[in-house]
Amino acid sequence: MIITLVPNGAEFCRGDGMYRLRIESHFDAAHKLIGYKGKCAELHGHTWKVEVFVVGEKLDDVGILVDFNTLKEKLSRIIGRLDHKFLNSLKEIGNPTCENLSKYIFENLKDLRMHVKLEKVRVWEGEKSWCEYYEA
Ligand SMILES: [Zn+2]
Repeated sequence: MIITLVPNGAEFCRGDGMYRLRIESHFDAAHKLIGYKGKCAELHGHTWKVEVFVVGEKLDDVGILVDFNTLKEKLSRIIGRLDHKFLNSLKEIGNPTCENLSKYIFENLKDLRMHVKLEKVRVWEGEKSWCEYYEA
């Protein structure tokens, strides 16, 4: 903790900690992996789970980093473009791998200019496999 004396003599206390918020959502879609040697080259579907992590250190007057509902609304706009779609037809994603999906969601969330830092997007392709995209 840092304690700083401000001009009126009051002490201003600031912690060095950070806050991390996480929301999750899901979508169902079909895809096939181009250039892949194996079953995933065939048309099939998944229920993808999407997790979004944001970080920041400054809370508002209420004590909130960012409203969960604001984040959920932003994510649901992006998920809406993917849900019940054939992902190969969405050219902006590229080959619809878990990696490219996580980057696509990250890039589109980042463009929405939140006052918190978008830390990473994690996309689950099944119950045991996920990919994260983040910027170092
Ligand atoms: Zn697949």
